[in-house]
Amino acid sequence: MQWLARLFGKRKETVHRPAPVFFINTLSNNKELFIAQRLGVVTMYSCGPTVYSRAHIGNLRSYVFSDTVARVLSAAGYRVRRVINITDVGHLVGDGDRGEDKMNLGAKREHTTPEMIADRYTKVFLEDLADLHIDTDDIRFPRATEYIKEQIALAKTLEEKGFAYQLSDGLYFDTGKFQNYGRLGGLHTAKLEAGSRVSVVKGKRHPSDFVLWRTAKANDLQQWDSPWGRGNPGWHIECSAMVRSLLGQEIDIHTGGEDHIMTHHNNEIAQSEAASGRTFVHYWMHNAFLNMGNEKVSKSLGNVFDLSDVTAKGFRPLALRYFYLQAHYRTPLSFSWDALAGAASALERLQKNAKVVAEESKRVRAPSEALGRFLVAVRDDLATPQALGILWDSLKSEEYTPEEKWGLLLEADAHFGLALIPTSSTGATVKDDVPGKVRNLLSRRELARTAKDFILADRLRNEIENSGYHVDDGPDGPVLTRTTL
Ligand code: AMP
Ligand code: ZN
Repeated sequence: MQWLARLFGKRKETVHRPAPVFFINTLSNNKELFIAQRLGVVTMYSCGPTVYSRAHIGNLRSYVFSDTVARVLSAAGYRVRRVINITDVGHLVGDGDRGEDKMNLGAKREHTTPEMIADRYTKVFLEDLADLHIDTDDIRFPRATEYIKEQIALAKTLEEKGFAYQLSDGLYFDTGKFQNYGRLGGLHTAKLEAGSRVSVVKGKRHPSDFVLWRTAKANDLQQWDSPWGRGNPGWHIECSAMVRSLLGQEIDIHTGGEDHIMTHHNNEIAQSEAASGRTFVHYWMHNAFLNMGNEKVSKSLGNVFDLSDVTAKGFRPLALRYFYLQAHYRTPLSFSWDALAGAASALERLQKNAKVVAEESKRVRAPSEALGRFLVAVRDDLATPQALGILWDSLKSEEYTPEEKWGLLLEADAHFGLALIPTSSTGATVKDDVPGKVRNLLSRRELARTAKDFILADRLRNEIENSGYHVDDGPDGPVLTRTTL
């Protein structure tokens, strides 16, 4: 009779209505109230790295941005299910349909195979995310080469529906057949002009047509059988196929850097919507670029820095995170070592302040009008510079009690991921060698405990234990001990 017990014993799930959040949607170019398709759950996809070299600090801005979107939504009451793809085939030098596969290039450079290159840089990428306190608990990281079957199936569907045509060098998507091609970022008005800059392939029906499946060239290190002969997938099809396989045909949010709007994301929309006949993505969000002074981050200009350059100069990865959050994600951000030094010292002062507030408040939190303003700011299209300003003003102000300041710090840490909450019995902040994932779990548990959500707090404690750490609640806050070496 176990099934009876299960049926009647099932607790009624309480439905929490999430708080309102507003985002600027690249599709409408307007600020919109975010409405998830399913109450309380958000599906979100972010274009991931091409793992032929290490991600640079411009790329990393994009992942701190999407992490902030997810943190804001989680704190507003949503569960956020995420996918970041790992591109390990198909992305050609120059982003177009001509040129060498970047994975080929990486393999040749390091005298090894594309698989080894992919393993190497995927590992480094995941370490970079952890160092930057990017919360990866609800993120899946599928590799394009694991989804070849799904990419072929999607291309086949497009061919059967009349959206594709074959040329000697591959199967192409016919953008002329897809109504409204290029509506993201207003490409339709500039379409021909933009398209004419793309190298002309003989037989291509429109300049904006793009490859779905490429016929293998002799020097392609990665190739598979397909209905169109041996070859490899075009770059755009992997995102459409993985979104469909892992999150569904219609998703809530898709993010990426603004360089992807015109081609990559318009092509993803065309492929997905032509195949399903449904709206692919409801909210498109794009971060502006990180530049070096007035220059773009570019290998040929020799100004590409990655996280190892940041730590080699003595900065903690979180200083970079603080630096990103000082600007709105849609504003171009200019990097300099001086500016990073400014961010590092601001973060240090903030953490010292937090230590004092932890002691004075005895970690008891109270709501405040400043907390209300903070939440309005972060939920208003991620106004992180304003939210940081509110945090600083309130900490300096005598108008707020230590308990009110503590309440604000807890929320700020949940939204910013800046390790603001002191956690050892001496009141020191968590040491930097504690993995970002564990720190995230710890601050979420702190938040759950102060909100008296003990079920969630216990679940998070179990996750901390499973990650090799034990947590005790001492008089001055939680104390972490490592249980595995
Ligand atoms: P890629 O590996 O080139 O596909 O880039 C990974 C992510 O980083 C994409 O979302 C890009 O749009 C984004 N991106 C690339 N360069 C920059 C930059 N300089 N600043 C901000 N985002 C960038
Ligand atoms: Zn993509």
